[in-house]
Amino acid sequence: MLPLMHNKRGLVMGVANQNSIAWGIARTLHAHGAEMAFTYQGEALGKRVKPLAESIGSKLVIPCDVEDIASVDATFAALDEAWGGDPERNTLDFLIHAIGFSDKNELKGLYADTSRENFSRTMVISCFSFTEAAKRAAERMPKGGSMITLTYGGSTRVMPNYNVMGVAKAALEASMRYLAADYGPRGIRVNALSPGPVRTLAGAGISDARAMYSWQRANSPLRKSVTLDDIGGAALYYLSDLSGGVTGDIHHVDAGYNITSMPVLDGLRA
Ligand code: NAD
Repeated sequence: MLPLMHNKRGLVMGVANQNSIAWGIARTLHAHGAEMAFTYQGEALGKRVKPLAESIGSKLVIPCDVEDIASVDATFAALDEAWGGDPERNTLDFLIHAIGFSDKNELKGLYADTSRENFSRTMVISCFSFTEAAKRAAERMPKGGSMITLTYGGSTRVMPNYNVMGVAKAALEASMRYLAADYGPRGIRVNALSPGPVRTLAGAGISDARAMYSWQRANSPLRKSVTLDDIGGAALYYLSDLSGGVTGDIHHVDAGYNITSMPVLDGLRA
C-alpha cells in the first residue's frame, strides 16, 4: 500500500522551532510520504527552521512575514518556480497555516484594555493571513486539495489572559467555514484543528501559561497534555484522502477538555 501522503506536496507556514505545532505536523506528514516547503519569519527563526527542514529532506525554505503581502506573494511565486508547470499535477496539494501573534502585554489583564493597534495587528496576522494564504494556495490546487489552520478553545469560551487572541480565533474559525464553502465546489477542503495547550514560543506569550497547562491536564477526561504527535496524527487525517468527505470542521485535539463543564474534583464525595 502506498503511504497516505504519497505524491502530495504542501506548504507549511508557522514553524519557529522544534517545539512548534507546525513542526509536529510536518514530522508526521513526512513519515507518511509528504513533500514539504516551509516558511520562516525573519532570519533569527530561519536559523532554526532551515536545519529542521533539511532533516526531512526539504530544500524549499522561504522567508515570509504575513504582515507584508509582497512577502506572501513571493512565497507562492517561489512554489510556482519549484513545483509549478506540470499539467498532470497540482503545484500544491495542501496548506498548513499555524501562525498567530498578539502583543504579549495584552495577553494578560482585561480583554477590555486591548488597544486598537494590537487588535488590528492580531487580526491581520492570526486571522486574515489564513484567508490570504488560502486564496493563493487554492489557485494552485486545480485538482483539489486540503488546508488546515490552528485554532484554540478560547475562541468560544473565555480563557483567562487569552483575550484578543480568543476574538481572533473566533474570526479565524468563521473564516475557515467561509473558505470551506468558497472552495468546496472545487474539491478543496478547509478545516481547523483545535489543540489543547502546548508548550511553544507563542504559547509562552500568554500570561500564566503554565497554570493553563496544569489546569487542562488535571481537568481533561484523558488527564494528559496533548503531544505534537497527537496533533500530527489529526493533521494527517485532514490533509490526506482519509477525510475526503470532511470540510468546514473544527477538530479538537485537547484530551477531551472541550466537553467538560465542572472541574474534576478527584476524591470529593457528597
Ligand atoms: P510557535 O511560536 O511555534 O508558532 C507560531 C508561529 O507564528 C511562528 O512560527 C511565528 O514565526 C509565526 N508568526 C507570527 N507572526 C508572524 C508573521 N507576521 N509572519 C509570519 N509568521 C508569523 O507556536 P505554536 O503554538 O506552534 O503556534 C502555532 C499555531 O497554533 C498558532 O496559530 C497558535 O495560536 C495555535 N495554537 C497553539 C496552541 C498552544 O497551546 N501552543 C494551542 C492551540 C492553537
